[in-house]
Amino acid sequence: MDTNSLQHQLEPFITQALGDGPLAVRALHVLRALPRDVVADFLADPQFRIAMDDYQPGKGRTVWLACPTIGNGSRSVILKPRLAECDAAFAYYIIAHELAHAHLRNGGYGAITDPEHAADALAAEWGFGKVARR
Ligand SMILES: [Zn+2]
Repeated sequence: MDTNSLQHQLEPFITQALGDGPLAVRALHVLRALPRDVVADFLADPQFRIAMDDYQPGKGRTVWLACPTIGNGSRSVILKPRLAECDAAFAYYIIAHELAHAHLRNGGYGAITDPEHAADALAAEWGFGKVARR
């Protein structure tokens, strides 16, 4: 898949998943910075999903997808709505970290066996190093 067709697929994919608000813009910013083969693999995998977490206290969720931190090979990335409003660098880091889990299928990365450390290491390699919440 060439870079252009990939970019052309990415935007509709994200718009369908997240709408066209600030969270979609932030998710696109991160996805556009990832290696092309990583993005191509996501888009080609029907198991890969991005969704907005619509949990509301007292109301529950209208959609529930497997949480990427549960470690069952799920490739669902659930993003909290507050990632649209918080500090951009922090949001990019969280989005990249979640995408790294999806890429690694919640597994390790190289010599790193802890899935959380692995996701942080890969996100940092993609240019989104760990950022403290501000
Ligand atoms: Zn994680």
